Amino acid sequence: MDSLEKENNISFYIHIPFCQIKCPYCDFNTYENIENFIPNYMKGINIEINNWEKILVQYNVKSIYFGGGTPSYIKSSYIKEIINLIKSKFSVEKNPEITLEANPVDLNIYKLSSYLDIGINRLSIGIQSFSDSLLKKLGRNHDQKSAIKSIENTLKAGFKNFNIDLMYGIPSQSINQWRESLTKIKNYEINHLSTYNLTFEEGTPFYHWEKQGKLIAPKDKKIEDMYLLQKEFLTEIGFIHYEISNWSKPKMQSKHNLRYWSGNHYIGVGAGAHSYFDNKRFSNIKSPKKYIEKMKPQNINQTNDFFKKISNIGIIHEQETLTQKDIFFDRVMLNLRLIKGIKHQDIYREFNINFPKKFKHLLSELVDLELIEENTEITKLTDKGILLSNEIIMRFFQEISKPLPIKT
Ligand code: SF4
Repeated sequence: MDSLEKENNISFYIHIPFCQIKCPYCDFNTYENIENFIPNYMKGINIEINNWEKILVQYNVKSIYFGGGTPSYIKSSYIKEIINLIKSKFSVEKNPEITLEANPVDLNIYKLSSYLDIGINRLSIGIQSFSDSLLKKLGRNHDQKSAIKSIENTLKAGFKNFNIDLMYGIPSQSINQWRESLTKIKNYEINHLSTYNLTFEEGTPFYHWEKQGKLIAPKDKKIEDMYLLQKEFLTEIGFIHYEISNWSKPKMQSKHNLRYWSGNHYIGVGAGAHSYFDNKRFSNIKSPKKYIEKMKPQNINQTNDFFKKISNIGIIHEQETLTQKDIFFDRVMLNLRLIKGIKHQDIYREFNINFPKKFKHLLSELVDLELIEENTEITKLTDKGILLSNEIIMRFFQEISKPLPIKT
């Protein structure tokens, strides 16, 4: 995807913060036991989308993504209403990719058929593992049987395009358990896979349990072995590694996520949702309760300036106008996540920067450490670099943030 195609295209991310249970490793903006908020929250989402109508007149909607949280946990009639609203208010591409994140326990044939009817054409199923003991450890509300059933139902309903999430680096997970989970996917026609290395995020029960010694994170060497095992296994069965955590069969990449990683614009709707638009990065208040209180039609004044509108009603949590330096760093960070890496020519065209020359010393250091591969056209992470991607991205950040030398 051409990173310069962003000008008149846009994607919508809709945040559904409801989950049947809150998993102890999860640090997303999600909640259990607030089902009574669902009707008013969805009204708020409608109002927020309506607010974008005048601002996005010139824009073409390329993709819609329902994430969370667990969008499959709420009635599909709510999802239908949002899709119809977006289609009625905006110019939408003929066959936009419309993805919905789902929990295996929600995917019965009836629900799946209703998704196809309302225009959902891609699912992302949070399976995480096919081992009952690991699913229990993760605090998930499904088991291996329901995970398999959800895949069978998805295929039976007629979905061709769906992702499953799998996790490695779970405490006590053995290499064999990881191999078994990977082997399961061979039995089904699965075209997309997201594999995440479990991290212990601050504020989660997992983080505290690790600090208290109740959970032990796997050693780096084991993580590396698991990563290399998946690489060998998935490549052998026809998957292409296209982003640090994402694998797909040919031409089955997530269009929506590729738009993020290529630096294109998107609008996040709902509590805590993030947006990137008009050189601004901003996010909504995180609390669904406060979001509902603010997002009332009478609170919205008639100005056409969206930022005035939402700032006035206090829905914005954080807002930042990006400098050229920020946009450049974002591009480097996002493009490094792509397995094809950074195309020097794209960087030159968009920022007038000679990438190999600007980072000459850093690149030579990272090449010597076998963390980066480069030639005249591209710079990309090696396998070793993928495992240390956060540290490498931080090095680029430090380099980009350096003040310019003072000319004397
Ligand atoms: S179901 Fe997903 S979003 Fe919800 S708490 Fe668990 S990991 Fe987080």
